[in-house]
Amino acid sequence: MVEGRADLEFFRDLGVEDLFLDSPAPAASASVSTGSMPDLAALSKFLEGCPRCKLSKSRTNIVFGQGNPRAELMFVGEAPGRDEDEQGLAFVGKAGQLLTKIVEAMGYKRDDVFIANVLKCRPPNNRNPEPDEVAACRPFLEEQIRLIAPRVIVTLGTFAAQALLETDESIGRLRGRWRSARGVRVMPTFHPAFLLRSPERKKDVWEDMKLVRDFLSER
Ligand code: URA
Repeated sequence: MVEGRADLEFFRDLGVEDLFLDSPAPAASASVSTGSMPDLAALSKFLEGCPRCKLSKSRTNIVFGQGNPRAELMFVGEAPGRDEDEQGLAFVGKAGQLLTKIVEAMGYKRDDVFIANVLKCRPPNNRNPEPDEVAACRPFLEEQIRLIAPRVIVTLGTFAAQALLETDESIGRLRGRWRSARGVRVMPTFHPAFLLRSPERKKDVWEDMKLVRDFLSER
């Protein structure tokens, strides 16, 4: 690698006339632009090795999300936890097992729906996502929503609801009421990890999921 003037003079003295320097670095990891990906597989490939925020330094795996690419129902959580980071799959830990029960109680199998997170990489020690991380990752969630084109998105917990709906309203106010984002109906509800700590709130989630189930069964 040519370091500077001294190197250039050294090569000139050797009689070297042409130097082939490294090509300029590609534009620092351009984000995905809305509408640019043909399908989820291409989007997932585009995300491989993502260096777009500091979570890339501490993650084990990117957690793209999984499920039916044509799902009518999509769930969006906050960010991968330890189990998800290890396995590269969304909602596979204890909260994920409860989510599976919720999905099945609604009359679906897990493979029928699509499950993703706002952030695709685990924040260290499960700390709250930071604004720059959300900004870097948001285009990937938006492109997932465009490609899947679900009829309903259920957001799980405060963070996912606030991020997707771009609001700072509390989950207490948001849950159980239809909203919309990116032209899709959104039903905010509590996060299954919260239900593990506060099982008495499961009935609230079930009320919310009945609204979703009833809407999806009309057609
Ligand atoms: N909590 C989340 O918000 N997402 C996961 O994938 C797992 C736990």
